Amino acid sequence: MKTVVALGGEGIGPEVVDATCELLVASGMPVTVLTPPHGAAAQASHGSPLPDDTRRACETADGVLFGAAGGPPSSAVVTWLRWAKGTYASVRPVKHYPGSSSPLARPDGIDYVIIRELSEGLYPGREGDLADLARAMPELKDKVGTRVADYGPGRFAAKVVTRAGAERVAKFACELARRRKARGAPGKLTCITKSNVLPQSDGLFQQIVAEMVKRDYPELAHEHFYVDDGARRLVRFPQQMDVVLTMNLYGDILSDLGAETAGGLGMAPSGCFRDGWAYFESVHGSAPDIAGRGIANPTGTILSAAMMLDHMGLTAEARQLEAGVARVYRDGKALTADQGGKASTKEFTRAVLDAYRAQ
Ligand code: NAD
Repeated sequence: MKTVVALGGEGIGPEVVDATCELLVASGMPVTVLTPPHGAAAQASHGSPLPDDTRRACETADGVLFGAAGGPPSSAVVTWLRWAKGTYASVRPVKHYPGSSSPLARPDGIDYVIIRELSEGLYPGREGDLADLARAMPELKDKVGTRVADYGPGRFAAKVVTRAGAERVAKFACELARRRKARGAPGKLTCITKSNVLPQSDGLFQQIVAEMVKRDYPELAHEHFYVDDGARRLVRFPQQMDVVLTMNLYGDILSDLGAETAGGLGMAPSGCFRDGWAYFESVHGSAPDIAGRGIANPTGTILSAAMMLDHMGLTAEARQLEAGVARVYRDGKALTADQGGKASTKEFTRAVLDAYRAQ
C-alpha cells in the first residue's frame, strides 16, 4: 500500500484535490490518502500554516498532491514545497486530448513538455530599495551607462542564475528528452531565454544548456529561441516541440500559454522534482472567480495524480487513469463549464472513474 499526502490549499484547490483523492480511493488502487492540517485551518488550530507533523508526513509519504495557493497561509505551503524543499524542475506536460477545447484550429498531436527551472531566476523573490542597491553597487550601470543612483527612488528585483542550478535542470531536461526519444519522440531540447538582453544571467543559462547537450547528449537535437519568439512558436508550431527548457518566470508564463493552446488551463498537470523527492500539482491557481461553486475542472489535478502514481511505481494505474481522462474528453458527455459542458467537478470525476474501470 502506498501513502499519499493531499494538501488542498485554497480556492478551488480543495475541490479538485478532494475529487481526485475520492477517485483514487474508489478506483481500488493500492493507495491510502492522508489529509494533514495545513493552510488557514492549520494557522488557526496549530499556529502555523504548515505544522511540523504535516511537513514530516510530506517528507515520508510516497506521493504528495497539492491543490493551489492563493493568499499567505496557502502560499506558505507552496513556498515550503518549492523553495524550502529545493524542488528545481517543474515538469509541465502540454498535451491535447481530442474533445477538449483548444482555441487552435489544428491542435491534434500537441504533445510536449515544458520544464520550468523552479529554484532560481526571479523567484523566490529578492527585492529591495534602489537606494540600497546603489549604495552596495555604486558602479553598476545599465547599457547606456546610467548608474543605479541616477534613476531616482524606486525598487529592484534580483535575478539569479548559478552554474550548478542551470546544470542540474539541464541534465534533468536532457534525461527526459532521452527517455521520450526512446518512446518515439523526436529527441529535441528547445531552450528559451532572453539572452540577447540579459547576456550575463540568461546567457549563462543558454550557454550551459548548449554545452551540456553537445558534450553529453549528442543524440539530441538542440535549438534556442528568445522568449518572445519562443512564445510565438509555442502557439504557431506546438507540434514541433518535444522538451522545452526555460527559466523560472518564463516557464511560469509559457506553461499557462501552452496549457491554453492544448485545451485549457484547468487541464494542465505538473510534477516538481528534486533529487529523491517530488510533489505534484495542477498548473492553475486558486481561481477565486469560480471557487466554492463545484464547477472547477479537476483534469489538471487528476493528471497530476497520474504523474504522481507513475513516480510512485504504480505505472499501470497511471496509464489507465490518463486513458480514462482521454476517454471522457473523446466521449464529450461529461465536460465541465470551461470546456463548454455542464458537468460539475464531481460529475466529471465520476465519469473518469467509470472510464478508468472500463479500460
Ligand atoms: P488562476 O490559475 O487561479 O485562474 C486563471 C483563470 O483560469 C480564472 O478565470 C479561473 O477561473 C480559470 N481556471 C483556473 N483553473 C481552472 C479550473 N481548474 N477549472 C476551470 N477554470 C479554471 O490564476 P489567477 O486568477 O491569476 O490567480 C489566482 C490566485 O492563484 C492568485 O493568488 C495566484 O497567486 C494563485 N496562483 C497559484 C498557483 C499555484 O498554487 N501553483 C499558480 C497560479 C496562480
